[in-house]
Amino acid sequence: MVQKTDTRPREAAIVESVRTNSFGTFGHLLGCAETFEAAVIDPGGPIASLLEKAKQTNLTINKILITHEHLDHIAGVAALKQALPAAEIYIHPAGVPMYHAKGVPVPFAEWESLWSSWMGRRIVDSVSSTLLGAPYEQPNEPDHMLQGGDTVTVGSLSVRVSETPGHAAGAVSLFVDQEGLIFTGDTVMGGVVGRTDLPGASGFDMFSSLKHLTSEFENACKDATLYTGHAPPTLVSTELSRNIYLNNTLRFVPTHILGNALFVVLLWFAWSGFKQTLSLFRKLSHPQGKDRVKLVEKKTK
Ligand SMILES: [Zn+2]
Ligand SMILES: [Zn+2]
Repeated sequence: MVQKTDTRPREAAIVESVRTNSFGTFGHLLGCAETFEAAVIDPGGPIASLLEKAKQTNLTINKILITHEHLDHIAGVAALKQALPAAEIYIHPAGVPMYHAKGVPVPFAEWESLWSSWMGRRIVDSVSSTLLGAPYEQPNEPDHMLQGGDTVTVGSLSVRVSETPGHAAGAVSLFVDQEGLIFTGDTVMGGVVGRTDLPGASGFDMFSSLKHLTSEFENACKDATLYTGHAPPTLVSTELSRNIYLNNTLRFVPTHILGNALFVVLLWFAWSGFKQTLSLFRKLSHPQGKDRVKLVEKKTK
């Protein structure tokens, strides 16, 4: 089947996407073509190119929407707030602990004395500078909590919030239904889905979110455009036909079930190996067993 490849936004919306860091994370500028108000979705690194795009399109950024709390999606929040103090930050409450914990797993972030020591600071800054393009700055306090079913307005555009946890606890997908625009962060990314092995992730939640997103996509207009965290824009119809996690290929066999099955097999091998070692040890520690082993050794010499 020939796929339609026109992924341009409709006339009432302006969308600009730029790569913000060396993770290849996309930051999106979502603007209203009537009022020229705009939101930045996922400022994940240096913000110069996002600000430049806003300037070129005459957009005024007054909102920062975060699809999830990972470092590569929030690292530019502090700089954006410095440049645009009036911009308000929106995030799902389940993502707030990691958002405040430098976008890294909470237990690591609690090693505050290590990070704030001279050497720790240099390590963090050099890693951040390499991966994110700038030293990491703690993001500002969020202004609003996103909940499933909420609507955030960007000029005359309505952005509907859908909770899609799995890749991250506070992951949301953002739907601009009238304009056929969907921002899925790292939940669905051009033929694949986000990983579920990081702290805060859940395979079970991802399974539910993908089922939910599949029905959302089936109800969306087929040429609705999907903007993702790391893959170029794609069409809903393309995802429904080619993404094996959304169509029937793997829809009912989530990766965590396959992973768990593999884990059980490995556990069984480990247990049988342990039992064999134990029985050999018993034979060796038994006087007759030792003799038998010696006898076998003599015979083989
Ligand atoms: Zn992520
Ligand atoms: Zn990401």
